[in-house]
Amino acid sequence: MPFNAYRSQILTMSGDPRIAGEENAVQYFEDGLLLVDGEHIVDVGAYDALAPALPEDVSPVHFENALLTPGFIDTHIHFPQTDIIGAYGAQLLDWLETYTYPAEAAFADPLHARDTAHFFVRELLRNGTTSALVFATSHADSVDAIFEAALEKNMRLLSGKVLMDRNADAALCDGDDLGRADTLALIGKWRGKGRLGYAVTPRFALTSSPAQLQMAGEILRDHPDVYMQTHLSENRAEIEMAGKLFPGADDYLDIYEQHGLVTDRSVFAHALHMDECAFGRIKDANAAISFCPSSNLFLGSGLFPLDTAQAAGVDVSLGSDVGAGASFSMLQIMRSAYKVGQLGGHSLDPFTSFYLATLGGACALNLSDKIGRLAPGAEADFVVLDYAATPLIDRRMRAARSLKERLFALMILGDDRVISKTFVAGALVHERGENG
Ligand SMILES: [Zn+2]
Repeated sequence: MPFNAYRSQILTMSGDPRIAGEENAVQYFEDGLLLVDGEHIVDVGAYDALAPALPEDVSPVHFENALLTPGFIDTHIHFPQTDIIGAYGAQLLDWLETYTYPAEAAFADPLHARDTAHFFVRELLRNGTTSALVFATSHADSVDAIFEAALEKNMRLLSGKVLMDRNADAALCDGDDLGRADTLALIGKWRGKGRLGYAVTPRFALTSSPAQLQMAGEILRDHPDVYMQTHLSENRAEIEMAGKLFPGADDYLDIYEQHGLVTDRSVFAHALHMDECAFGRIKDANAAISFCPSSNLFLGSGLFPLDTAQAAGVDVSLGSDVGAGASFSMLQIMRSAYKVGQLGGHSLDPFTSFYLATLGGACALNLSDKIGRLAPGAEADFVVLDYAATPLIDRRMRAARSLKERLFALMILGDDRVISKTFVAGALVHERGENG
């Protein structure tokens, strides 16, 4: 396997800066060197310290006026909603009926699924997202399509067949076996392939019967390497309906608790309109939340109380929630997170945002030993951010006085144009201007 060295400004996190303190969490090398052997990182540090030990035949690739960081991790996104991103109007439940279910019904056609999955994976990589927790549709073929596309790029990507058996288009609903056979077959088929992982995926409480949630919980219990993803407490009308459908539950989270779905392998998207007790129960289960600010603003769902969740000790990460989220770019998702914080009365600092989009995502997925940071032994997923991506960004960077200012300006002004290169497991998989 080839040995490569990359010289650049380098930024990575070793912890959550709000908990560990910036001085401990932020690792920054003004003139840094990243050493990669095959698919893994060998070392990262100051150029002056590491360069003398380089093998004679290795000359570092130098990225000037750029910042090299871990690849971004998107912990909540729907690949079948790629074609309805930016669909006008309405709140969650209308939006699902009007746009989402018809778009997902089209995935009965495996060719459409495959075409969309390839576009989707390319779009992730164009935006510097190297790992994601992805919803497919209720069609087993849609899971094959996204896993095939991700495997081609050797991505660490998690996905699963959506489970739904009521309150939606019949074409999307599972039959008498509740989706069990397809789910088990997909777990068997994809287990251990490349860097892929399976997530049991009940859409949300409104579209699953108690029997289906029970089955999902049993599969999760029986497969210790399998994850669980779903939506939680996104919209007030949704919460009210969940209460009617599950009258025996104390609150929305309790619906999932009663069916064995709140575990250390569970990631809940949204978690708006929740009290401290519910956050505490998520923390006690070592489950995680995917904060989806772009989607929450777009659908008018609400403002996620990041401070409350973090004070409760919950693992929080960031999700684009495309297609309700309006961008694949995690830089833009960080920008939305900042705006949500501003409206909620707290300013989200750029290091914390950057943590949420990298190591925070890895922690939510229990993968912090593999992805989300640049460290010896980690998988070599990284991106190169261009400080001169646009005339305005170039000009703004010249006025910035610190790394923190540069990072914040990248979040506020940046998008896919900032991503000049994306590497997955040591291989260059996107270079701006050539295939993007
Ligand atoms: Zn979603």
